Amino acid sequence: MTTRKITVKENILSANAETADNNRTCLDNRQVRMINLMSAPGSGKTELILRTIDQLRTKYRIAVIEGSIASSIDADKITQKNVPAVQINPSGGCHLDARMIQQAFGALDLERTDLILLENVGNLVCTADFDLGAHKDVVILSIPEGDDKPLKYPLVFVEADAIVINKMDVLPYFNFDLDAFAEVLGGLNPSARVFRVSAKTGEGMNDWFSWVEETLA
Ligand code: MG
Ligand code: ZN
Repeated sequence: MTTRKITVKENILSANAETADNNRTCLDNRQVRMINLMSAPGSGKTELILRTIDQLRTKYRIAVIEGSIASSIDADKITQKNVPAVQINPSGGCHLDARMIQQAFGALDLERTDLILLENVGNLVCTADFDLGAHKDVVILSIPEGDDKPLKYPLVFVEADAIVINKMDVLPYFNFDLDAFAEVLGGLNPSARVFRVSAKTGEGMNDWFSWVEETLA
């Protein structure tokens, strides 16, 4: 029974990996870059996306794929920015897979897009298992969540290209040990870029914007 379960999961993941590679090729052929933003609920993915749109929209044609399932609140905020946005409602609910992203591409004008910001489902467990075809995977963690998140959810941190520590403005009110966090992360993923930001106040955001622009270069 156990063996069969594992086999099924492997088949699902290998099929997903193939579709994810196709997604990446599809984007590469049209010179589109996609950044996958993963976090627990409430870490500030949507806020980070909104600020990134504000900052970069005059230079790049940005689109959003919205996988957030709580409601259409996030998608509505994006739509108010007047950028193309597609909302996915994953049937299982807890993660996105490469097929869903492939379908979302069909609703976007990729020939007229430079950057896709993908808001993944608020979940740090199985989102890490599914390659979606993004060029960069980013984990957002906010100060109130605590510095031990990488110990609880190591896989998503191991595979990330960048970690955004958000809500730095509330650091004085929480026991978030930045040194302890850096030490744990250094053991899991020493090459990840780390940004300490407040999407709300703008603190540290210029470094984040520069990194996004580097992925577009
Ligand atoms: Mg959101
Ligand atoms: Zn899942």
